[in-house]
Amino acid sequence: MTISESDLLAKVPDRLFIGGKWVPSTSGRSIEVHDPSTGLVIKTIADASPEDGIRAVDAAAAVQQSWAATAPRVRGEILRGAFDLLQERADEFALLMTLEMGKPLAEARGEVTYGGEFLRWFGEEAVRISGRYGVNPEGTGRMIVTHLPVGPSFLITPWNFPLAMATRKIAPALAAGCTAIVKPAELTPLTTLYFARLLEEAGLPAGVLNVITTSTSGDVSAPIIADKRLRKLSFTGSTPVGRKLLTQASENVLRTSMELGGNAPFLVFDDADLDGAVDGAMLAKFRNIGQACTAANRFIVHESVADEFTARITARVNELTIGRGTDDGVAIGPLINDGAVDKADALVRDAIDRGATLVTGGSRIDGPGSFYQPTVLSGIVAGSDILREEIFGPVVTIVPFTDEADAVALANDTEYGLVSYVFTRDLARGQRLVETLQTGMMGLNVGVVSNAAAPFGGVKQSGIGREGGSEGIHEYLETKYVLTPDPFLAG
Ligand code: NAP
Repeated sequence: MTISESDLLAKVPDRLFIGGKWVPSTSGRSIEVHDPSTGLVIKTIADASPEDGIRAVDAAAAVQQSWAATAPRVRGEILRGAFDLLQERADEFALLMTLEMGKPLAEARGEVTYGGEFLRWFGEEAVRISGRYGVNPEGTGRMIVTHLPVGPSFLITPWNFPLAMATRKIAPALAAGCTAIVKPAELTPLTTLYFARLLEEAGLPAGVLNVITTSTSGDVSAPIIADKRLRKLSFTGSTPVGRKLLTQASENVLRTSMELGGNAPFLVFDDADLDGAVDGAMLAKFRNIGQACTAANRFIVHESVADEFTARITARVNELTIGRGTDDGVAIGPLINDGAVDKADALVRDAIDRGATLVTGGSRIDGPGSFYQPTVLSGIVAGSDILREEIFGPVVTIVPFTDEADAVALANDTEYGLVSYVFTRDLARGQRLVETLQTGMMGLNVGVVSNAAAPFGGVKQSGIGREGGSEGIHEYLETKYVLTPDPFLAG
């Protein structure tokens, strides 16, 4: 049975989750959460104060020892139980994300699948935290290397993937034996609150996970990051905020994981399967209405196929249906708010003013909600803002190149280094680009790379550390080395 929007919203907690209890904020203030497709308020929730943040640290610190001592199998089974509950409630979580973030329902269902996989994957990894034991090179002792939970962790997530960005941090933290405080973005806090209730049902002990929602993220986060009991900060969001948080974290010498912004190049060579490249481009550009750190930001296309690629992608873009994410057949929902529309539009105007050709789209859409037309711009001129900044909107930008060296130089001409996409049939070229493109991830003839089993993350100013894969759990583990004397000489 499909749940109605109002019944679903009524089920979502509207308080903070601290020490296993749903509590009001000490500030007495509240946050209004909006549907970006209508601009209307859909729910009002508690707005945490700095004092609430410290109460969350109190709760996480109080149970750190007992959670670390909980058998890995038990930790893993709680995550597996959460995975199963999430499958049962997949439609509810999908609808909730569409309501607070705007993405089309089919994509929200895809996010439930993707986000859920972190629960299953790290539930399985919990029992595989291994160490090593061996004779030291001198033969005089035995060396033991083991891995222990880092300790209470502060997890800050963005609005664009409300479930997956939370589970990608929560699951490895809990699997490793760390307790946590999660702070979702003010724009999309409901999915995290509803997910915390699910973890409660899955049997997570009180205090192991705490959720604070706030409209004053800087004021609430700073005292948490400065608290001596905190040992880890994991952040997903923009590079400017990441830089600021790294500075704060340095005072407390915290372990940090930083999943920051991207400016993905999408390279199409003259030998590429153009149909495959256009399919990949549609995914890499329009998934999440272009609001993904992995979104293709610059289409760098060989000059001999640039016109054909532009014509084929424009035909596909003109078929996209725009509307509320809950409506059948909608591929392009609203952007997160009017500020995001203003930003996309300013980047498009700047590119046109500098000489780019507007092939299709290029305007905001009047009426309620924050909508922007799917847009194609070709012949972007070097120096345009749109090549330097994350667009975070449904805008394709096409830049022609002459040869491989030119393509690599254009692709690497950015402070970011999260992901690149390459379409070519030449295997050796593909292998060369693995080494010459400065990104933490690459899609070789595919337009989406995300997978819970893979190490997700960037180089340069796209971040530090990896989430997912066998690497992901080590972000929440310290390495401890022990030396013991040669047991044959002892006694
Ligand atoms: P953002 O503005 O940097 O915010 C991210 C999170 O940080 C939100 O929870 C935000 O809370 C919080 N925040 C902002 N200022 C803070 C402060 N001074 N102290 C503590 N917390 C603070 O980014 P966003 O607009 O939500 O997300 C889009 C960005 O995330 C893009 O740059 C995108 O590329 C990046 N992203 C990266 C990845 C990745 O894996 N690399 C994945 C997804 C998104 P409030 O919004 O409530 O202030």
